[in-house]
Amino acid sequence: MSDWRVAKCLETLLAEVNAKWPGRSIASDGTIGDAAHRSRSSDHNPWVEDGGKGVVTAMDITHDPAKGLDSQQLAEALVRSKDSRIKYIISNRRICSGSDQDKPAWVWRDYPVPPNKNPHNHHVHISVKSDKAAYDSTQSWAIANVAPPAPGHVPGNTRPTVRRGSTGDAVKRVQELLGLTPVNGRFDEKVDTAVKKAQERAGLVADGVVAPQTWELLEKGK
Ligand SMILES: [Zn+2]
Repeated sequence: MSDWRVAKCLETLLAEVNAKWPGRSIASDGTIGDAAHRSRSSDHNPWVEDGGKGVVTAMDITHDPAKGLDSQQLAEALVRSKDSRIKYIISNRRICSGSDQDKPAWVWRDYPVPPNKNPHNHHVHISVKSDKAAYDSTQSWAIANVAPPAPGHVPGNTRPTVRRGSTGDAVKRVQELLGLTPVNGRFDEKVDTAVKKAQERAGLVADGVVAPQTWELLEKGK
């Protein structure tokens, strides 16, 4: 399909993001599919048809903490908003489905990235639902309360949400911050228990999930 447009709700989101973070980097912004998004299953392809035009129902917004836009925090704010237009959000190698999808709503889960695919760690990806009432709604998005970039947060993947079963450098960091050994990057029962204890002591929900608030707590305790 050669003739395409962007879903109006995503144009609204983009305008609101641009107004909130003027001068932000758009290096990883995108709507229409590119080489990394050629697959038929990507919402960056205009597979939704509306009046003879294809509609792109996905948008990427660049991580630019230097200008105040932390893409993970934007993702978290959108998840908190439980906006019914959202189909799913991808950020920092995790994915979170919206309502009425075949996965639990508003819960982050791992998003395994094949080596040649985009890890979405320099932007947040937002897909919206393919029904017109959702994708062309110009209702305002709840981005007023996006948290500022966490101190020390650099572009990339330093503070992804991790939990039991997660692996990698971020888990090593959690182990270091908790003073656990071995520092092996495996979020096992020992790590889970230690995180829950720290959360409990701080009066947070002791769910063992190291999301922005718990990251902050652990970094502070260091
Ligand atoms: Zn994307």
